[in-house]
Amino acid sequence: KEFRNNVKPNWCPGCGDFSIQAAIQRAAANVGLEPEELAVISGIGCSGRISGYINAYGLHGIHGRALPIAQGVKLANRELTVIASGGDGDGFAIGMGHTVHAIRRNLNITYIVMDNQIYGLTKGQTSPRSAEGFKTKSTPEGSIESTLSPLEIAMSAGATFVAQSFSSDLKQLTALIEAGIKHEGFSLINVFSPCVTFNKINTYDWFKENIVNLEQQFPDYDPTNRIAAMNKIMETNGLLTGLIYQNTQRKSYEDMISGFGKEALMKQDLSLTEEHFNKLVAEFK
Ligand code: SF4
Repeated sequence: KEFRNNVKPNWCPGCGDFSIQAAIQRAAANVGLEPEELAVISGIGCSGRISGYINAYGLHGIHGRALPIAQGVKLANRELTVIASGGDGDGFAIGMGHTVHAIRRNLNITYIVMDNQIYGLTKGQTSPRSAEGFKTKSTPEGSIESTLSPLEIAMSAGATFVAQSFSSDLKQLTALIEAGIKHEGFSLINVFSPCVTFNKINTYDWFKENIVNLEQQFPDYDPTNRIAAMNKIMETNGLLTGLIYQNTQRKSYEDMISGFGKEALMKQDLSLTEEHFNKLVAEFK
């Protein structure tokens, strides 16, 4: 199974996004997918280029709209494994409305956010994930806005799978993407992905010093406990990595639509028979 193609990424050398690309490719192979069984849908930003760098179906969408497109793809063909991906600006600023509603809708999609805490493609402006006091071209005296916590928002929106990782930890990241793909519902995986060109604060070293690895530091942590998950996110100031929360009890959106079927819509017989037609007419008489 070859998820690599011959397109050379034009990310800056050292960008965290390279590892996320590798982790998606490894996870897809590890769960036994074929390239024609995977669709990668992305938004706009440096990270949005990822849909062109993986040998699978890919669609580089518009800013903040990776999730509406991904949900449409999933509803049209639920047999595809659908991964949506983009940056923190894409998903947590312009796309935040879609993110929250996709979470609560719970379609079987894996959403991987490449969180570099800055706008990289437009050459370094403050993003919703930037820390207070963060100085950039758009906030020369330091950001006076509070930092958005996507994990807390996801939990309060009713997420069924919430995880966070670091692009340097390829083993953990690959395992979490595999778990997200296997999860029957929406999985949010936020990944710290350093922007080596414009973010000189949240560097690889900064993350290594500040990250709290749940598995290593809290071996008894129970990711099925919603209250414990919320507490741990707040206790660690959102810097925890690992599987934070998973609810396997709630059915996916597709499984809750009455009569939707397990096959792709294109394989289902959707033709209108005379009986269906007469019933429909009778309803509107
Ligand atoms: Fe990566 Fe930053 Fe370069 Fe964009 S500008 S490719 S986020 S290092």
